[in-house]
Amino acid sequence: MAEPDVWKKCVSQYKSEVTTRDFEQFIRPLRAINTGERLILEAQNEYVTKQVHQRHLQRICELVAQHCDPGHTILEVQVKTSDQVEPLPVSVKQSTEKRSVLKREYTFARFVEGSSNQYSKQVAQEVAKKPASKINPLLIYGSTGLGKTHLMQSIGHYILGRNNQANVCYMNAQTFVTEMVLALTRDNASKRVRRFTKQFHQADVLLVDDIHLFATKEKCQEEFFHVFNNLIDKENVQIALTSDRYPHEIEGLDTRLRSRFVMGFCTEVKLPDLETRAAILVQVAREQGIKLEPDVALFIATHVKSNVRELIGVLNKVIFDAEYHSYPTITIERIKENLKDLFAVHRRRITIEKIQTTVVEYFHIRLSDILGSSRLQSFVRPRHIAMALAHELTSLPLQAIARHFNRDHTTVMSGIERIRKLRKSDMRVEEDYTSILRKLVN
Ligand code: ADP
Ligand code: MG
Repeated sequence: MAEPDVWKKCVSQYKSEVTTRDFEQFIRPLRAINTGERLILEAQNEYVTKQVHQRHLQRICELVAQHCDPGHTILEVQVKTSDQVEPLPVSVKQSTEKRSVLKREYTFARFVEGSSNQYSKQVAQEVAKKPASKINPLLIYGSTGLGKTHLMQSIGHYILGRNNQANVCYMNAQTFVTEMVLALTRDNASKRVRRFTKQFHQADVLLVDDIHLFATKEKCQEEFFHVFNNLIDKENVQIALTSDRYPHEIEGLDTRLRSRFVMGFCTEVKLPDLETRAAILVQVAREQGIKLEPDVALFIATHVKSNVRELIGVLNKVIFDAEYHSYPTITIERIKENLKDLFAVHRRRITIEKIQTTVVEYFHIRLSDILGSSRLQSFVRPRHIAMALAHELTSLPLQAIARHFNRDHTTVMSGIERIRKLRKSDMRVEEDYTSILRKLVN
């Protein structure tokens, strides 16, 4: 969708009124949709939404009022997170709208690779480069928040980037279901259903998200089956699908559909490992104009391992906290304080005994070597690493950690401090530390 003129004018004036950082971080990335009476500004995440709302919206409203074309009065300006905007089907006839339903950030370039998703990314890129050749349909499956929609929409962006006339049709299965229910509950139901499904027939690329949502919706499955068959039989149409499970595990999914869905190529996305999670955080922060130190990223990634969506959500909270309190940098101490409850849940799962046994296994030494009094360097270093990990991963006070190592708390404190410094100056210590950390938290 073309940027509404009124927005372009507002942006160019507002640029001179705010700092470059505010402009780059909050204003430039907004996507404006002009519905006539309303101007909707879509922000890429909740943090940006809040900031725009609190700090910029009033002035934006004034500028909009100033720049409205005569006779086209915008009565309201709204700012919302793009996730909150219901994704609607692309009208395949109106090529200008194709990109607007694909989220702008969901491109291959922004998809951080790691062992958990590298293969899926390669396959998706292969599909994007050579649509409708070998891999058809492509099915990306895996649990929620792991990047399935991101990868699938990247295919759409890539194909549109090469040919903006391509009919890329993206739809969430839930939208398909809703539209079908609407059509079926009105007069002339079958005509309405036909009209609805006809739009897919001209698609060059059909991207259907969350096909597990078709489960138990028999009529929808039947209609989708026809849409699918119609397209897959054509030579030049690419289909890509996502699901939270392998189709054979979806109860209430027709067996004919199941076999259609897996007849091309299925690839699973898994939870990214610790380093990839940290790399995602660094990248997402950078996109918001914020430099996240690697140890801080690693710290958040260590504690949030449910999925990437939640990981980014935590990062946004952290950034919000730092901006709100005007902290110049984001520190681990501040994060610990800010996200106490979140980390407390996780910490309970890692015991100090587990840390000690993981450390001794890693260094091929015995438990008595780190619990005893030997001052040999090959025992002292692992002992200090175990203390530092206990401090980072458990909520135990220093006195309690000290008891587990048969020492007093000042010894533990200096051990932790030594490791903190060594991690910055000695690559091997940093490597040992993060390798053990990864074993404990992955
Ligand atoms: P799913 O469809 O699997 O539920 P999404 O594709 O919606 O997950 O991803 C959730 C969020 O995590 C999105 O903001 C997405 O951009 C981000 N994300 C997931 N994986 C990655 C990755 N490897 N690199 C960068 N961002 C990612
Ligand atoms: Mg999704």
